[in-house]
Amino acid sequence: EFHSQEPPRVTLYSCGPTVWNYAHIGNFRTFLLVDLLRRWLEASRYEVFHVMNLTDVDDRIIGEAGKRGVTIETLVAPFIAAFFEDRDYLRIVPAHEYPRATGFIAPMVRLVEGLLAGGAAYRGEDGSVYFAIDRFPAYGRLSQLDRRELKAGASGRVSSDEYDKENARDFVLWKAAKPEDEAAGAAWDAPFGRGRPGWHLECSAMALDLIERRFGTRVLDIHTGGVDLIFPHHEDEIAQSEAATGLPFVRTWLHCAHLQMSGAKMAKSTGNIARVGEILDAGVSPRALRYALIAVHYRAANNYSDESVAAAAAAVDRLDALVAALDAYREERADSPDLEAVLTTADDAFGAALDDDLNVSAALAVVFDLLRVINRRIDGRSLSTSDAERVLQTLRSLDQVLGVLPDPSEDLDDEVRRLLEDRAAARARRDWSASDRLRDELAARGIAVEDTRDGQRWRRQLETTRG
Ligand code: AMP
Ligand code: ZN
Repeated sequence: EFHSQEPPRVTLYSCGPTVWNYAHIGNFRTFLLVDLLRRWLEASRYEVFHVMNLTDVDDRIIGEAGKRGVTIETLVAPFIAAFFEDRDYLRIVPAHEYPRATGFIAPMVRLVEGLLAGGAAYRGEDGSVYFAIDRFPAYGRLSQLDRRELKAGASGRVSSDEYDKENARDFVLWKAAKPEDEAAGAAWDAPFGRGRPGWHLECSAMALDLIERRFGTRVLDIHTGGVDLIFPHHEDEIAQSEAATGLPFVRTWLHCAHLQMSGAKMAKSTGNIARVGEILDAGVSPRALRYALIAVHYRAANNYSDESVAAAAAAVDRLDALVAALDAYREERADSPDLEAVLTTADDAFGAALDDDLNVSAALAVVFDLLRVINRRIDGRSLSTSDAERVLQTLRSLDQVLGVLPDPSEDLDDEVRRLLEDRAAARARRDWSASDRLRDELAARGIAVEDTRDGQRWRRQLETTRG
């Protein structure tokens, strides 16, 4: 059961992208889990403070910068810009803070100093600083190392950011500067030697610094990431943070199962990756892609394929058609006496589904059950005009969480807006040939117009999927 430390506030920290390359839609599956969580918490009247870091210095980034002969600063800039662009395409609500690791070196240094002073960290003969996991008895609790019958601390130490999952070892907090770090602009002075932070240290320092400065607390309500981060990354974050603060670091963890493609985890190392931009270029709408990535419960595997995105596009089209039908609906008759109950029941069931560990599949089932009921009533003309408005309000309110319905203002560009205005003016002066010509021009831009007693109504023509 979720309890925030100081309701209604929720502090939420998400491990963000490592910007050595473009984020792929597997990464975005995890980021969309956070988006769904945040939107649901806010719909439930929590006040969320959301931090997502940008890992802009780590082994992979320095390696890639070295290959290209540029600094890490130069390397990461286009990938950060692309990340924000893709975030916006997918309608992810922006975090309140996007700290970059390189902007938080001072808190990282302070954290290491504290750990050295407390005896939880030591300097290796290689000049790097390591965390001594046998000084932290709770090490391995999150990933249940004991159940895996691994001996913590048995196998020496490790200096790379990512290491094998079968061995718990002393991990690096601060890496002594090497010539390749200096060349890439990735080395900083510190009392315990010039060097650069290890990946695990970065997240602890950024999270603790931001919530402490803002709220005076050093305990996070929620921390998220993909399942691959449980060990060692999050285990190490816990160890460093708790050894430094003496407090529990995180009250609730959420880990997103992997997005797969062709039966394997989507990963740059295997090469089975797809990027948001590529998928949109192939004709998939951003809303269909968002739907495909959020529609499966976050702890279940989600396999991305042409079929899965086509199914998502079809689902979004059905919602669009319903919205358009409700928008255009006009019927002068008495309001339906039972409609309020239908809508309240749907709203309650939707909320109960999301309260149950973000059961999004059950929440979507509620939406589509409602869609079927309403479509029948539209066909039977049994709704009143104001009934249709009420239904639309409910759909829009559920969509505050889902984020998949068409947004009328976002969808119209200036040119389309002008054509619609011209056509309304042409009809007002009974210039039918101009009106027909403008209808064709709008159709060519994917906008269908319909003339009703209440004037002209427009909607996007149903989006096509790939191919
Ligand atoms: P990275 O950019 O590698 O640091 O990863 C950013 C986030 O994406 C982390 O939370 C990862 O756990 C997550 N992630 C990486 N691959 C996948 C995948 N195939 N499916 C879901 N999440 C992933
Ligand atoms: Zn992290």
